[in-house]
Amino acid sequence: MSKRIPWEADILEVLINEEQIRAKTAEIAHQISQDYEGKEVILVGVMVGAVVFLADLMRAMEIPVSVDFVAISSYGKDTRSSGVVRILKDLDMNIESKHVIIVEDIVDTGLTLKYLVDNLSARSPATLRVCALLDKPSRRKVPVTIHYVGFTVPDKFVVGYGLDFDQRYRNLPFVGVLRPEIYAG
Ligand code: 5GP
Repeated sequence: MSKRIPWEADILEVLINEEQIRAKTAEIAHQISQDYEGKEVILVGVMVGAVVFLADLMRAMEIPVSVDFVAISSYGKDTRSSGVVRILKDLDMNIESKHVIIVEDIVDTGLTLKYLVDNLSARSPATLRVCALLDKPSRRKVPVTIHYVGFTVPDKFVVGYGLDFDQRYRNLPFVGVLRPEIYAG
């Protein structure tokens, strides 16, 4: 566990450690490589939270991949979803007739993912699937299919490995629960 970052005061508990993330990422990358053998995929990372996972996932994959990003309006300092979703940065690539996998950090209410899936489906990709490092099913508001899931997490606000609170903690190498007093202000 990283001692370079003084995280102990802000993190209540480490939920998923570096080794667990590494092993699961390799497992998912291998599964995707098998499922798409002989094909080429475009990984669509949802900024900014998914970039750490995406960077590790793509390097563990055994098939040709290209990468693009979308940015979606985020919570800012609010830790609960407003339900309002909009695209801040669209794809650079044309995904028509391509095999596309959306890479998310966490699926919570599902509103962001539902919006993205609907939006990208309308561009006629050959196939469209979803890969999420974390799934928080207890808070789901709309049903969404996640084809590749890393870990299911409880209804707690988590940070690290790409996930932030107010843009901080993304560089923690593990996923941990943020002390409620930090976001309670
Ligand atoms: P949804 O639209 O599914 O409610 O929210 C998805 C987005 O909400 C994620 O991509 C992430 O940015 C944010 N989010 C949801 N739950 C958490 C959490 O526990 N921690 C952090 N840092 N972000 C979260």
